[in-house]
Amino acid sequence: MSLRPCRHCGHNVHQQTTDCPNCGGPTPGLTTEERTRSGLMLAALLALVIVPMAVLFYGCISAFAG
Ligand SMILES: [Zn+2]
Repeated sequence: MSLRPCRHCGHNVHQQTTDCPNCGGPTPGLTTEERTRSGLMLAALLALVIVPMAVLFYGCISAFAG
């Protein structure tokens, strides 16, 4: 675990912590860029799950339809 200055108040916090223990700010250990990137990662992950499921579902429908 690495310590980083809180982006709200500058208090040293763990990078992965969700709330600053000093000022209560959200995700104090992440920069805005990192927050955006993790959001994109989540979207990509969702797409990786949803797209194959949709293809599989479509395949089942096609199999039933003959
Ligand atoms: Zn803070």
